[in-house]
Amino acid sequence: MTVRTRIAPSPTGDPHVGTAYIALFNLCFARQHGGQFILRIEDTDRVRSTAESEQMILDSLRWLGLEWDEGPDVGGPHGPYRQSERGDIYGEYARQLIASGHAFKCYRTAEELDELRESRKAAGMQLALKPADLALPADEAARREREGWPHVVRMKVPSDGTCVIQDMLRGTIEVDWAQVDAQVLLKSDGMPTYHLANVVDDHLMGITHVLRGEEWINSAPKHQLLYEYFGWEMPALCHMPLLRNPDKSKLSKRKNPTSINYYRRMGFLPQAVLNYLGRMGWSMPDEREKFSLDEMMAHFDIQRVSLGGPVFDLEKLTWLNGVYIREELDDQAFLEELMKWAFNEEYVREILPQVRPRVETLSQVIPLAGHFFSGLPAIDEESFDDVKLGREELLRLLQFLVWRLEAVPAWHKAALLAEVKALAEHFELKMKAFLAPVFIAITGSSSSTSVMDAMAILGSDMTRARLRHAIEVLGGVSKKQAKRFEKEFRELQ
Ligand code: GLU
Repeated sequence: MTVRTRIAPSPTGDPHVGTAYIALFNLCFARQHGGQFILRIEDTDRVRSTAESEQMILDSLRWLGLEWDEGPDVGGPHGPYRQSERGDIYGEYARQLIASGHAFKCYRTAEELDELRESRKAAGMQLALKPADLALPADEAARREREGWPHVVRMKVPSDGTCVIQDMLRGTIEVDWAQVDAQVLLKSDGMPTYHLANVVDDHLMGITHVLRGEEWINSAPKHQLLYEYFGWEMPALCHMPLLRNPDKSKLSKRKNPTSINYYRRMGFLPQAVLNYLGRMGWSMPDEREKFSLDEMMAHFDIQRVSLGGPVFDLEKLTWLNGVYIREELDDQAFLEELMKWAFNEEYVREILPQVRPRVETLSQVIPLAGHFFSGLPAIDEESFDDVKLGREELLRLLQFLVWRLEAVPAWHKAALLAEVKALAEHFELKMKAFLAPVFIAITGSSSSTSVMDAMAILGSDMTRARLRHAIEVLGGVSKKQAKRFEKEFRELQ
């Protein structure tokens, strides 16, 4: 058997460090067994998936030095590798399951589903809806079918008993069937859900081992049942521990920069980031901290993954990056990294329109536009002295902006401007007054290049990291304030 592993990211946002972490382990596992590593794009969520996000995922994984044998950009014998291009295969398989009695059309409306759930909640029952709960009286079902009501296709699931799953790291996992919904497989627009598409593609692409994050454990019973229904052999499952913030909560962009773009822009070296990700729950047999991708592949053993909840700690990563700069780069290599990072024609060209109209000599460029070549600006409380807003108001403004920017789907100036305008209105401030503290947070000074352009160029994670940094230097948002802010922010949506 040839080992085949894969990652299957959904292109719905920034390229996440968690995706790179899972990719790294899949790649090492495949290589250790002389197998192949595949990249598949799971873009069945047509509303949230974007081409930009897909491109960023491919770019950032390549930047890290991760290579795949088959994928949407390199092709391969099992293509297409983008689910949106795989035509009606999922529909065909759903029909097959209906024909074999393992799935059914469900004509329940959204209101009826809410009612069903509400009444179960009131009666203190499990919320999972089973085929029997969803069934309509036969004549009503026939009427809805005849009249062509919108419907979904759901899989049948047992109503009780225990589902037993084998996990390469966790051994036997038991899940109560009572908690498992009659999962939707095909949505009313005919698109598959993650569960159906994922199982069908893993099978058709010959995937033998699925290494993925532990957040997918709850999906495993449904997947196992689908494999059984189809009569296919299931790949071995391995649920990797989730990356965590230093306070042990799940690594999230609310607390830490999670986009690979951020680390790239901060000037981390790809080898150091990859090495650090390799240390997440895993160690070399001799416990050494510094190792290359080749060394990791050569010594890889999945059983050395510990489930303790690896902490992604920026300080440690920064330390390791420093070790790489000192030990791995000579002057020439350092110069090359520096040029790749920001001192290159492409990047300088991007900021040129911001700079040229504002300088009289070339030596004014760096003092004016240093924020394009730096990380978090050196600011303190006094930096905001001239801003005519009270402390609480200032924190509220910056916090609201961070939250709004977290949800911007495509990062470009027009979209950012729309967010800023909406918030300025909410705060009853003129744009200029609203932007004054933002300007300081982003550029580190009170006169520089246009702040909106700077945010667009710096990208989502760096922008939000700078805004969060400003909140910190202003003393941070207390728990009480956070509660108040959140309530007001929710009402604003
Ligand atoms: N599309 C899923 C994701 O976004 C894939 C999960 C899996 O590996 O099964 O991570």
